[in-house]
Amino acid sequence: MTSIMNPPAGYQDLDKIIVSESMIKRRVRKLGAEITGAFGEEEITVVAIINGSLFFVADLLREIRRPIRLDCIRVSSYRNETRSIGKPEIVHSLTIDIANRHVLLIDDILDTGKTLSVVVNLIKKLNPASVRTCVLLDKKGRREVDFEADFVGFPIEDQFVVGYGLDFAERYRNLPCIGLLKAHLQNPPEWR
Ligand code: 5GP
Ligand code: MG
Repeated sequence: MTSIMNPPAGYQDLDKIIVSESMIKRRVRKLGAEITGAFGEEEITVVAIINGSLFFVADLLREIRRPIRLDCIRVSSYRNETRSIGKPEIVHSLTIDIANRHVLLIDDILDTGKTLSVVVNLIKKLNPASVRTCVLLDKKGRREVDFEADFVGFPIEDQFVVGYGLDFAERYRNLPCIGLLKAHLQNPPEWR
């Protein structure tokens, strides 16, 4: 648990904690068990979308009791300060072969659904045996394309969150919990 007497750097910039460190730990353990069960004896090829999913993936993979291969891809942020500006693009693609493999694609958060649908389409073109998706957070109310993840950590409201991998201008990723930034630090309110 995070000590209130000795908070991590960045804590003071939060307005509110949405998901605490202990909630994350508990949920990640359960998700790991769910995924372990869902994949049977199969080896899993994990594709992580970085940077956002780094912390989640590092913790989750150690809770999955199956052989795993790991690769990362990087998707360009297709947003500016205020709104969506087109389509997400893959700026660094896969380096391992996924043909005939069981793929688990992992991202930090499912919002409009654009990022995951672009990446799933790319993966499907490479003829995997199966593709499933896992996200830590799901903003259900924000979907612009029809997309649901197979494994979800926490459904959350439509609000901009940081911590546990999620950033604001590359900061706050190392917070052990997930929370809302104080309003004056979101200048202007981003991602809309
Ligand atoms: P989508 O393409 O589904 O709209 O957005 C997914 C990506 O947008 C995520 O991978 C994440 O990088 C970013 N994103 C969406 N909502 C948030 C949020 O509340 N906080 C942060 N830090 N990033 C977000
Ligand atoms: Mg991201």
